[in-house]
Amino acid sequence: MSKAAYKRVLLKLSGEALMGDDAYGINRVTIDRMVADVAGIAAMGVELAIVIGGGNIFRGVAPGAQGMDRATADYMGMLATVMNSLALADAMRQAGLTARVMSAIAIEQIVEPYVRPKALQYLEEGKIVVFAAGTGNPFFTTDTAAALRGSEIGAQIVLKATKVDGVYSADPKKDPHATRYATITFDEAIARHLEVMDATAFALCRDQKLPIKVFSITKPGALQRVILGEDEGTLVHV
Ligand code: UDP
Repeated sequence: MSKAAYKRVLLKLSGEALMGDDAYGINRVTIDRMVADVAGIAAMGVELAIVIGGGNIFRGVAPGAQGMDRATADYMGMLATVMNSLALADAMRQAGLTARVMSAIAIEQIVEPYVRPKALQYLEEGKIVVFAAGTGNPFFTTDTAAALRGSEIGAQIVLKATKVDGVYSADPKKDPHATRYATITFDEAIARHLEVMDATAFALCRDQKLPIKVFSITKPGALQRVILGEDEGTLVHV
């Protein structure tokens, strides 16, 4: 079997990635395809933690939250990530994987709370850990939760799954001359105003020297190629 380039990774999935072509919610075929990808890399012996967003259900800055108190709307967004985490963990269990959901907000009847040593123990035991409820704080995003939890668990890299297969010099949908960067430094990404993650998440990764790989979750085999260290997506590094 091919050898993984990483021992422990933090995979960030956007909530929207679960929608597939639907306008809202969780698409069964899409989540099962995602889980098949995850199973492939788990089989390589990679320790895997996942942060999932909530954008397919609710975002604090969504039009539907207009006029609401921002913190309340953000708590609703965090609860949306809990729903997605439960769906993902359930799909993983059905696929024969062992997954644990840990929430940054106490909802003890449904999920266990996030406790760092416990998360580390699960990872060492080969269980897949899904971090739910973002950072547990309003005014943040799940990108920041990915940077934070990735730093806490000593992940070697944050894998940022998007709909585009990397970071481009311009919007590839609008500019036919846009080129994909195979690698780019944090400083270059800032200087060229390239959006990789939101600013808070990006700053945390840069400070912690935690590289980010941006890749497409919809491209078949992309996650596996990323794990094998092949030329896929864009590596953002110090
Ligand atoms: N959120 C929050 N604090 C966090 C993480 C998330 O308040 O630490 C809220 C925020 O309202 C956000 C929503 O949860 O819009 C869903 O997360 P996100 O937008 O990051 O999801 P994604 O875009 O990845 O689907």
